[in-house]
Amino acid sequence: MGNINEIIELLRSKGLKVTPQRVAILQLLMNGGHFTMDQVLNELRKIEPNISISTVYNTLNTLVRLGILRSFEADGKTWYEMRKDPHINVICEDTGQIMDVDIDVSAIEREVSKLGIEIKDLNVIIRGNCRGTS
Ligand SMILES: [Zn+2]
Repeated sequence: MGNINEIIELLRSKGLKVTPQRVAILQLLMNGGHFTMDQVLNELRKIEPNISISTVYNTLNTLVRLGILRSFEADGKTWYEMRKDPHINVICEDTGQIMDVDIDVSAIEREVSKLGIEIKDLNVIIRGNCRGTS
């Protein structure tokens, strides 16, 4: 579970009202990991059984829009994560798990800047199979 005070401060710093839904979602994602909307919904329903899909959907989108969360597409689903520093997301098609890999992305940044492009979000997704080894 994430630190409530940290979450409250984060929401306020973005000018957002502190709502139980926002706090619950950030508590879930704060400790790392990657979640689909369905996974977020299932986890939140353990605490608040009546929470609606649209509330979760809207809350996730608000948090992405304000740069608190990052979303990306992989394996036909939208994923949400709190980490926003450049890293590689490796998705295993056997388990559906996503793992973070840290690499030196300076070579990517250098090549992209040669194109005159300023990177807003660097998110590399690799798909693969563990063949039951993990
Ligand atoms: Zn990640």
